[in-house]
Amino acid sequence: MQSITILGATGSIGASTLDVIGRHPDRYRVHALTAQQRVPELAALCARFRPEVAVVGSPESAAALSVLLREADVRTEVAYGEAALCEVASAEECDAVMAAIVGAAGLAPTLAAARAGKKVLLANKEALVMSGQIFMDAVRDSGATLLPIDSEHNAIFQSLPQSYSRVPAHHGVARILLTASGGPFLRRAVETLDAVTPEEAVAHPNWVMGRKISVDSATMMNKGLEVIEAHWLFGAGAEQIEVVIHPQSVIHSMVSYRDGSVLAQLGNPDMRTPIAHALAYPERIDSGVEPVDLTRIGQLDFLKPDFKRFPCLQLAYSALSAGGSAPAILNAANEVAVQAFLDRRIGFRMIDQLIAGVLERMPGAALDDIGSLLDEDRRARETAQSLIP
Ligand code: NDP
Ligand code: MG
Repeated sequence: MQSITILGATGSIGASTLDVIGRHPDRYRVHALTAQQRVPELAALCARFRPEVAVVGSPESAAALSVLLREADVRTEVAYGEAALCEVASAEECDAVMAAIVGAAGLAPTLAAARAGKKVLLANKEALVMSGQIFMDAVRDSGATLLPIDSEHNAIFQSLPQSYSRVPAHHGVARILLTASGGPFLRRAVETLDAVTPEEAVAHPNWVMGRKISVDSATMMNKGLEVIEAHWLFGAGAEQIEVVIHPQSVIHSMVSYRDGSVLAQLGNPDMRTPIAHALAYPERIDSGVEPVDLTRIGQLDFLKPDFKRFPCLQLAYSALSAGGSAPAILNAANEVAVQAFLDRRIGFRMIDQLIAGVLERMPGAALDDIGSLLDEDRRARETAQSLIP
């Protein structure tokens, strides 16, 4: 029996994780569930999964949650704030942590789980993009097990040799082929992109996801963050990671070997597959997802990405090459820009311009401690805010 903490339980990944866990009450129980402000949703999850602890973002939310739990006769302990998130992510009673908070807010608890040597199921790519080497060092030093949830990285992980040890050349790996759907604007005339609304941008053709990652998919910043994520997870250089647009989202990524073999993982676009894979690894369990019906899909297409249509992808490659704090600055500027777009303060094309403006003003520095990294993150956010008209 494994005891799981789910950071970001009320989100899209949180819901898929609880769906898989709910199918296997003999294997998994829930230690803690967390949310930021969706209190009634979290109360309902506590009533169903009976965690020992629930964490929310503020004292007001904690008070409201306590009332709802008392009314429902649920004995879950309630806490709030970042220290409580770190506590449930590193608690002795917990074996595995699903890191599914969106954005930089997930860094501290995800890092706490890594430092405590937990099995870390990583959905929160922003945490790894920001902290890169610091995060990977924490995993190595504590002996934590890091398993990718992002569908592409989970597919790459499944297509690499079992004995893979973060040196691609030693395993005959030539390239990683990171697939991308291209999002909702793959074929829309570039001149019309400035007029797109948040509703159009979050309407992803293949995946149902939270709003922030949906906008990232529309700009392809999501793929840019994933290039950086793949660099850290698999020890591959930027030149070894190639993005391939595959609009059907059936192949979730591939590994190309020196001998000409290309290994891929296929499946329906449903996050319960990578979640079940990582939860049970190295075993396999039922996820509730039907196997892909290839004859019904009929055709799989592949295209090269157009960097003019998707400047964010180029910005991410440049930040990876620049190294140091550049990926953290890219991520912070992107979070501010996406929120400003969702709030209708800037147009869609302004997202990449804003990020480029921040990267011009802040070239990034070599950093090796979390305090300096968080300072860079804060400065990048202030710079991005100052560039919003
Ligand atoms: P959602 O927006 O659906 O959920 C985010 C979760 O994080 C919610 O539980 C939310 O709580 C909580 N949260 C938000 N802000 C904070 C904060 N400041 N402090 C603490 N908790 C907070 O996001 P997704 O589930 O779509 O994505 C989660 C992560 O997984 C992201 O990093 C994303 O990139 C990654 N990912 C997601 C995929 C997907 O299919 N959705 C696929 C691959 C990766 P509340 O509900 O109370 O606001
Ligand atoms: Mg992905």
